[in-house]
Amino acid sequence: MKKEIEQAAAAIRNARFVIALTGAGVSTESGIPDFRSKGGLWSRFDPMEYGTIGAFKKDPAKVWHMLDELLELTDTKPNKGHLAMARLEGMGLLDGIITQNIDMLHQKAGSKTVVEFHGSIASFRCLACQNEYPLAFVQEQKNHPVCGTCKQLLKPDMVFFDEQIPAAALMASKELIAAADLLLVAGTSCQVTPASSIPLQIKKKGGLIIEINLEPALDNLANITLQGRFATTMTRLTDQLNAGKEE
Ligand SMILES: [Zn+2]
Repeated sequence: MKKEIEQAAAAIRNARFVIALTGAGVSTESGIPDFRSKGGLWSRFDPMEYGTIGAFKKDPAKVWHMLDELLELTDTKPNKGHLAMARLEGMGLLDGIITQNIDMLHQKAGSKTVVEFHGSIASFRCLACQNEYPLAFVQEQKNHPVCGTCKQLLKPDMVFFDEQIPAAALMASKELIAAADLLLVAGTSCQVTPASSIPLQIKKKGGLIIEINLEPALDNLANITLQGRFATTMTRLTDQLNAGKEE
């Protein structure tokens, strides 16, 4: 592993523009089980009944039972891996993160350039008048939050299964991908579109791919595979780069 960490650090140091793609695996060590895993959110709430915009429009009160659980995530703290990624950005060695997570942990860790492919629960919206409400407003309510004007239940700005990736996020990610010559994949097996196409896009233009996964999934695409837990591995990698800087 030491050799691979050194190789990965050298590749990052030599790259012009480094981006990261993260998924559920980076947050499990913060205590958020992968929504798709056994015992995860979508094993207890059928995505078709609780995770689509159609379901929300039909019966928002029902979908709010699932959202109550999601809101508990707002107490979650970033782990050492999130903090290491933020540190890497501060060192000028990471230019942006594209995340599939809605838990805001990268931002909480201090990362500045974060594209949220699937939105987040940082803000909520009234589907009738499009008025936006911050998370703090929702947390202050005793009951499920409704729009002050329309009295309709609010929807979080997370992307439901049948919704499009927000245009702004798609645009921002395209710009990052276009500029990148190195992609750090962490905590995701890249099976869900459109995130799944990002490693291919980087590979196609001759970029390098470093994978950090407990169970590596990019065997054919990754140039360097760091098999291990996100928090430990990301910390080791960032420490290695930091040490290199001081030399
Ligand atoms: Zn409204």
